[in-house]
Amino acid sequence: MGPQTWNRWDHFYLYGLIIYVLIRGRFGARTKHNEKVVSRVDTRDRALVGLVFVGNIILPALYLFTPWLAFADYSLPTAVPWCGAAIMVVALWLFWRAHVDLGLNWSITLEMRKDHELIVHGVYRRIRHPMYAAIFLFAIAQGLLLQNWLAGWAGFVSVAVLYLVRTPREEKMMSEFFGQSYRDYMSTTGRLWPRF
Ligand code: SAH
Repeated sequence: MGPQTWNRWDHFYLYGLIIYVLIRGRFGARTKHNEKVVSRVDTRDRALVGLVFVGNIILPALYLFTPWLAFADYSLPTAVPWCGAAIMVVALWLFWRAHVDLGLNWSITLEMRKDHELIVHGVYRRIRHPMYAAIFLFAIAQGLLLQNWLAGWAGFVSVAVLYLVRTPREEKMMSEFFGQSYRDYMSTTGRLWPRF
């Protein structure tokens, strides 16, 4: 599918992606001058961020703006992209709320800032990884909206790899930094799925 044959779901994905990038950009700018006291940033974590960038942005862009991925096009029943659109709206809402709740404590990678606060309220009340949950939902929406198995599902695969590799490391870093408070928080929350 080339640029001449965009359907409304292609547009919908692009708008969703723009909102996603704007949310990220706004909070990235706010946290730019944070003083970091712990950093577990390494090549592996940078590679994961890069992988998600390829899966969520580069491959969809190739699909939307070039004919190169046309070999992987397929066609889905109309109900499917409608579900994708609904999931996209939920994903963007959760993504935005997670950024608001983390505030200055947000970071794109594994690090802790000076005066880092443990956030246990808002969308962090019942799950420890609402932002990763939002990114997962975004990737599912991407798969349901873009009618191309490569551009559609590359996002999900890359997000799954990021989640599986990073989450245990992040939880270890958080437990070392906050000690018992984080372990207590872990006992009352789920990772992606709310615990009641
Ligand atoms: N895993 C979380 C946050 C992703 S941002 C989520 O999915 O919502 C990653 C950074 O957020 C980590 O480096 C850590 O510094 C910070 N962080 C994660 N959980 C936090 C919490 N409950 N309170 C404060 N900071 C947190």
